[in-house]
Amino acid sequence: MSNTDRRPAARELGGRAQTPGGPVLDLLPGKQVLLGESTVVRRLLPTLGRRMVGAWAFVDHYGPDDIATGPGMQVPPHPHTGLQTVSWLLEGEVQHRDSVGSDLRFGPGELALMTAGQGIAHSEQSPAGHPRYLHGAQLWVVLPEADRSVPAAFEHHPTLPGFTSDGLAATVLMGSFGGAESPGRAYTPLMGADLHLTAGADVEIPLEPDFEYALLTSSGAARVDDTPLTPGAMLYLGTGRRTLRLRAAEATRLLLLGGEPFEERIVMWWNFVGRSGEEISGFAEQWDAESRGGDRFGAVAGWDDVRMPAPPLPSMPLKPRGRVR
Ligand code: MN
Repeated sequence: MSNTDRRPAARELGGRAQTPGGPVLDLLPGKQVLLGESTVVRRLLPTLGRRMVGAWAFVDHYGPDDIATGPGMQVPPHPHTGLQTVSWLLEGEVQHRDSVGSDLRFGPGELALMTAGQGIAHSEQSPAGHPRYLHGAQLWVVLPEADRSVPAAFEHHPTLPGFTSDGLAATVLMGSFGGAESPGRAYTPLMGADLHLTAGADVEIPLEPDFEYALLTSSGAARVDDTPLTPGAMLYLGTGRRTLRLRAAEATRLLLLGGEPFEERIVMWWNFVGRSGEEISGFAEQWDAESRGGDRFGAVAGWDDVRMPAPPLPSMPLKPRGRVR
C-alpha cells in the first residue's frame, strides 16, 4: 500500500542513538490513519516512540475489514524510491501492477516483494470478485547506500519456508529464522516472520542477540514475558536476546520483525526514502513531471493518466539528523 497522507511529515531516521544495548519491553501504541477514502489502518512504525527496527521503517496493519459491499483497497499509481515494500496478507486478495510490467493477483501466505531502488511506480487494488475480508500488513525496508539505486524489481514467492514446533507454525517472509530462509532478496541483515500460535501455546523462539526486534499482533492476543500484546500496538524488544517466550490463550497471529540496527541516516517523506531534503524534493518534482517526460518511475499499465500526485512539500528544509557513531 502507500502513504496517502496529503500532509506527510518528514522523518529523519537511522543512526544508533535510539538503539538500546540490551533487552527492553517498550509497548508502543500505533495510530489510526485514514488511507484513501475508506480504509483505516494502524500505523505501528514510525511512531512517537520508535523510528526503525533494523532496516524496517514503516509498518501498517489493516483489517480484517469487511469489503463485501465496498471497493476495498484502491490505491492508484504512486512512486517509491530507496526502499522495498513487503506485502503480506492474512485474508483477501490484492492486484499488484507496477512500472516494471508486473501484473499479479496474490493472496494469504504469498510474499509480494517490490524493490523500488532508483524508482518505481505501482498500484494496489482489491480485484473484482475479491473475497469478503481484507486483512494484512504493509511493511517497508530501507535500502542501504550501496544498493539504494539498484534497478527496480518485483518478486513474487507463492510459497515460503518455515517450521513448526509444539504450538507454533512459523513462516519466514524475509531473512532467516529458526533455520528457515526466505527466498526474498534482502540487502541488510534482517528478518521478518509470521508466527501462528495455537490456543494454549507456550513457546520459546530463537533470536539473534545482535538484532533488535519488535512484535505485533495481527489477531488474537499474546503474552511476551509478562507483557500482554493485542492488535493496535507494537512491542519493541531491544537487542541482546537469544530467546523469547511467547504464550497465547487463544489462536494468535504475530509478526516478528528484526534486524541489525540501521546505522545510516536517512530522510523519509511520503513514499520516498532519500538522504537529503533536496534529493526528496527532486523525487517529488520528477514524479509530478513524469507525465510530461522522464523515466525514473515509469508508467503502470491500465491506469491511463490516473496517478497519485505528490503532496505539497513541507516548507522546512529536510536534513538527516542524529549522531553518527
Ligand atoms: Mn506503495
